[in-house]
Amino acid sequence: MTEIPKSHPRYVSLMTRERLVEGVKLGVTAMQGLIAHGRGEAFDYILGEKTREFALKAEKAAVASMLLAKHPVISVNGNTAVLVPEEIKRLADAVGAKVEVNVFHYSPERVEKIKSYLERYGVEVLAACDAVLDGLESARRIVDSRGILIADVVLVPLEDGDRCEILKKHGKRVIAIDLNPLSRTARMADITIVDNIVRAFSKMIEMAEKMREWSREELNRIVGEYDNSEILAEAVREIKRYLEKTAEEITR
Ligand code: ATP
Ligand code: MG
Repeated sequence: MTEIPKSHPRYVSLMTRERLVEGVKLGVTAMQGLIAHGRGEAFDYILGEKTREFALKAEKAAVASMLLAKHPVISVNGNTAVLVPEEIKRLADAVGAKVEVNVFHYSPERVEKIKSYLERYGVEVLAACDAVLDGLESARRIVDSRGILIADVVLVPLEDGDRCEILKKHGKRVIAIDLNPLSRTARMADITIVDNIVRAFSKMIEMAEKMREWSREELNRIVGEYDNSEILAEAVREIKRYLEKTAEEITR
């Protein structure tokens, strides 16, 4: 790994890239995943690279949803695996979710690599690839009969829009993490967390550790009051505000 000095103003962002590059070398992350991350970074930049109020609201509703679910599943791809392996374990434990490997760029070897990568962090991983979600042509249709197939709530970080749509058609509540509030995924999901996955997981773990003590009534209230279109609109407005503020600073 390239040595990045801690004092570098873009330390976190550069370390994240290093992790993804390592992920590619290990055969865990797909090359295309690097490009997808770049799109995410661009949106993070124009959001000021911090967790905003609308993201916190979505993260809270997401945790409440997972705590209320009968069968919550965290779907993991190659980017998610290398960026937040420990956090996947902690969040799954805190909300009682299963973890399943599900990738767009599929090969049995890559699924196996992601699985064993996560197992090193103590995650119990489903990856049987023994069932199919009807209506989807990509490899993302291949799922585990003990996981996504029977899930009622699915957390899909860095998802593509098509899969999100199919999961919904199959009656599942979909929680997406996507820094792009304009994406099809973002518009399609029930709950969209417009935040960097690295920050979102940490926040959700913190919340889940507290909220697991809350009553179902309280959790239901949070989910009931949540309005995803308002959250997405707020994210777009925040980008606008942030850019306008920056334009003023530049011309001052
Ligand atoms: P659609 O519009 O159908 O949703 P897409 O082109 O956005 O499709 P992908 O290329 O799979 O689909 O998108 C990956 C998404 O993940 C991008 O929108 C990007 O903003 C987001 N993303 C990438 N890295 C991160 C990250 N670290 N944290 C949060 N979101 C990320
Ligand atoms: Mg997307």
